Amino acid sequence: MLVTGSEILQDAHKNGYAVGAFNINNMEIIQAIIEAAEETRSPVILQASQGGIKYAGIEYISALAKVAAERSTVPVAVHLDHGTDFVQVVKCIRYGFTSVMVDASKYPLEENIAMTNKVIEIAHAVDVSVEAELGKIGGTEDHIKVDEREATMTNVDEAVRFVEETGVDSLAIAVGTAHGVYKGKPELDFDRIKAIKEKTNIPLVLHGSSGVAYEDLEKAVSLGINKINIDTDVRMAFADAIKDFLKDNIDEIDPRKILKPARANMSQVVAEKMRVFGSAGRA
Ligand SMILES: [Zn+2]
Repeated sequence: MLVTGSEILQDAHKNGYAVGAFNINNMEIIQAIIEAAEETRSPVILQASQGGIKYAGIEYISALAKVAAERSTVPVAVHLDHGTDFVQVVKCIRYGFTSVMVDASKYPLEENIAMTNKVIEIAHAVDVSVEAELGKIGGTEDHIKVDEREATMTNVDEAVRFVEETGVDSLAIAVGTAHGVYKGKPELDFDRIKAIKEKTNIPLVLHGSSGVAYEDLEKAVSLGINKINIDTDVRMAFADAIKDFLKDNIDEIDPRKILKPARANMSQVVAEKMRVFGSAGRA
């Protein structure tokens, strides 16, 4: 069933588990995620980035995601990932997304608060949930120096002020993860997660979670992370399966035969994450 982001994340927040938010770009990825959610009886968030929407077209991606959610027997939210453009955010609300992320994290605190409030006013009027970002979650290619790392992370006092002045439904925090494929081992700042959770008491979101050790993710969840974003690991499952299949079947031309093993492989990877995050069995 199609539900709001808040409905899913409030339950996770109350009961101390996290829900996976997986990026979607086409039908097979959506089917793989839903299959995993039903198999593990897990609530799930299907999220489209601005790039994903550009690739598939907003009409296609929203229709596919909504059909998947409505036909599903588990709670599913359809979410915009990293909405940096106000027009894009509003369009997603119009196309039936039940949750949006407003990402104004590159601006100073006051502007971030103002942009987030502008989105909240519109989104909450039509029962759409809002995630915001505070701190700078970069890419693995950003090469941040160790002494500069602290400055990119979410400041605890600013998080308190941000939540008080916006009433945002969930908050993405920068605590040592990055987007993309990690070269070394990511070092999470667990004390920061704990402090932000204790002082804000709202659902917290971890971006860039592919490639983070499962024991670290479990610890992050126990300290207050309730939404875990996964994109890279699903991409890898997709590409690996297709490469494997074509290696042995180089003359195959049927897209169904080429994409079926990719769909199955993605589903397996997603189901594994759901068990680690603690969302399995919650639907
Ligand atoms: Zn992200």
